[in-house]
Amino acid sequence: MDGAPIIDATSDSEEAQGLGCHAGAEQMKAAAIASGKKELLEGFEKDYPLGPHDQPQSMCPAFGSLRVGLRMRRVGTILSGSACCVYGLTFTSHFYGAKRTVGYVPFDSESLVTGKLYEDIREAVELMADPEKYDAVIMTSLCVPTASGVPLQMLPREINGVRIIGIDVPGFGIPTHAEAKDVLSGAMLRRAREEAGEGPVQAPRDGIEERPTVSLVGEMFPVDPMSIAAMLEPMGLAAGPVTPVREWRELYSALDCAAVAAIHPFYTASFREFTTAGRPIVGSAPVGHDGTDAWLQAIGKTCNVAQDKIDATRNAMLPAIKAALADNPIKGRITLSGYEGSELLVGRLLVESGADLRYVGTACPKTPYSSDDAEWLRAKGVHVQYRASLEQDLAAFHEFQPDLAIGTTPVVQKAKEASVPGLYFTNLISARPLMGPAGAGSLAQVVNGAIGNKHRFDKMSAFFEGVGTGDTAGVWEDVPEDRSTAFRKKFAAKSKINNAVDAGEAVGT
Ligand code: SF4
Repeated sequence: MDGAPIIDATSDSEEAQGLGCHAGAEQMKAAAIASGKKELLEGFEKDYPLGPHDQPQSMCPAFGSLRVGLRMRRVGTILSGSACCVYGLTFTSHFYGAKRTVGYVPFDSESLVTGKLYEDIREAVELMADPEKYDAVIMTSLCVPTASGVPLQMLPREINGVRIIGIDVPGFGIPTHAEAKDVLSGAMLRRAREEAGEGPVQAPRDGIEERPTVSLVGEMFPVDPMSIAAMLEPMGLAAGPVTPVREWRELYSALDCAAVAAIHPFYTASFREFTTAGRPIVGSAPVGHDGTDAWLQAIGKTCNVAQDKIDATRNAMLPAIKAALADNPIKGRITLSGYEGSELLVGRLLVESGADLRYVGTACPKTPYSSDDAEWLRAKGVHVQYRASLEQDLAAFHEFQPDLAIGTTPVVQKAKEASVPGLYFTNLISARPLMGPAGAGSLAQVVNGAIGNKHRFDKMSAFFEGVGTGDTAGVWEDVPEDRSTAFRKKFAAKSKINNAVDAGEAVGT
């Protein structure tokens, strides 16, 4: 910017450079506030209130927004952050099949404190803003550039007709990668809303839908939007695009709806944009019998559908759901936890399938859009924990002694160590249809199959009992001998002497 440094060469930037998610979130926050990001952090605190844990217990939150951008057509992505963060994020995104280049703006102490980093970022977006290739370029600041106050808001709104969307996604402000998806979706919806207010915008790829639409919010198994569309159809409604969208122009159609279905309830910034555009939001989702019944009624009423049409739709859907649930019963005690935001919905489905569900923990916060689900689960005796920490998930596992633990990697690991079958929520449960008749019986096979494997865990535990733990841990060429008693005595004596020497005491007196 005309050669003048954008960031003051203060010690805050230097301090921030040495920090990461291993450092205290408070230090990072203090550096960010001192660098002019107070308002941004206050916004995050409001949108994504913290819970018992004050920093992410899952993967780097920026992975959420990175993935949303990488899945979109004609959208370029650039990261700026520490090399180790960018390495981890790009590695994971390619592991999940991104097949797309991720731009990287590195920094060093000098570029960070002199403001050159902002110049580098600006140069990078200018280089990438090719209208032949992109509708938008997403520029994401990770922890250190955010803590250093890199002013992304000063980037041009567009370059050569390519929109530039700058977002800060620091781990010390955004608790989960799920909520980072909302940061990017909210920023894009906001820009699309402003554009729609300024004049005509691009039409949807498949033409304009004549029927009133219901926009869906939350990443779902691909069959789910189709199941929802089939349930809306008899009410004269159509399913709109799913946010996070796959293409820029879908943002306009998403905003141009009769109602918004908050299938995943944590998209606070996105809901704010829909509300500003005058769109009503309906919480919960069409899962199981009771959930579908209440959701169809709420959606129909919000979209001014006549009651007899709503009733006819309910009468057409509910018996099929009831039959699917009855045909696919689940037997066994279960604890459930995850960080996708759909945990309460899965919980409802498990209970209606007959499972003895005791605990649902979600890393996402409490919002009005999941309150009906929480109330329903509590009425069935299920403990619901918002912003659940790993410690709370594990405490529930120990307290309820389930036949199956559905959860995040560390929870499943603990369960398996205790010879209890476990299923990963993200890979094995949330990657299944959940909505309407198609979702009603979809969990039974995988859940019952896992519970039925208990004897295998017992066999494995008996076989490996004592291996790889305590004195037998490590790589051994021979069968390890238990020398613990002799070794401990010897080393205990040695360390006593060393401690005494360190403390400057006389030895042997
Ligand atoms: S960007 Fe992600 S990995 Fe890097 S320090 Fe922040 S939270 Fe940790």
